[in-house]
Amino acid sequence: MYFDHLLDAVFGIRKIFHVIECEVCGFDEVYYEDVETKKLVGRACSHCNFVQKFDF
Ligand SMILES: [Zn+2]
Repeated sequence: MYFDHLLDAVFGIRKIFHVIECEVCGFDEVYYEDVETKKLVGRACSHCNFVQKFDF
């Protein structure tokens, strides 16, 4: 699926940190953490096609 490929490209290997309700569409907005560092890497909503990478 296209969106998963997009997430692979942006976030790499990741784990779901938590899921909240997307404030735009009401679908699942997923927060991801890096598998190794356990740091939050970004969030995404597959319904909105929204992807944001967190840069610290
Ligand atoms: Zn959404």
